[in-house]
Amino acid sequence: MQRLKEEKVRSILPALTKVLQDSRLIHLGGDHRSGCRAVGGSCVIFGEHGKIEGFGEVSDEMLSSNPLKHGVMEAIARVAESTVAFYQAIPQEDYGQLDLTTCPYLCRNLFAFCWMEPCVMCTMALNHSRIEILFFVDAQAGDGGCSAHSLHGLRALNHDFLAVQINLDEMT
Ligand SMILES: [Zn+2]
Repeated sequence: MQRLKEEKVRSILPALTKVLQDSRLIHLGGDHRSGCRAVGGSCVIFGEHGKIEGFGEVSDEMLSSNPLKHGVMEAIARVAESTVAFYQAIPQEDYGQLDLTTCPYLCRNLFAFCWMEPCVMCTMALNHSRIEILFFVDAQAGDGGCSAHSLHGLRALNHDFLAVQINLDEMT
């Protein structure tokens, strides 16, 4: 099982490398190392070929209008908008023909990258959205949804995901 997980993570690393080269994340200067609840905190959600499906970044305006608008929540919201658009484009009478195992469902078959490990709220949102793997660079000591609370692997929930802390220097 552990070997399967390692192979899965390894298979996604080329897509992650592509995302980091393509996205604004790499050009954000120091701010992107903020946590998901701080200004500059960001998250990118992408597919297995490196296509970016959602991006969220916290601004001053967002935090002052709604303190729950974290980078991860915003990225998931963009993916959710795409999911809604997918189903809205299908005539209702055709719904019965859909193969729901292959249709988009939020973050199913998608992957997330954050510089800073997400907080508890965002980790739960990733879980409920069915994310496959979360990659992060810096752990939130004592407060991270994965490293401190292991919310990515809770057996009581109907989904779990891999959470992988990466060293970007070793990837390039
Ligand atoms: Zn958060």
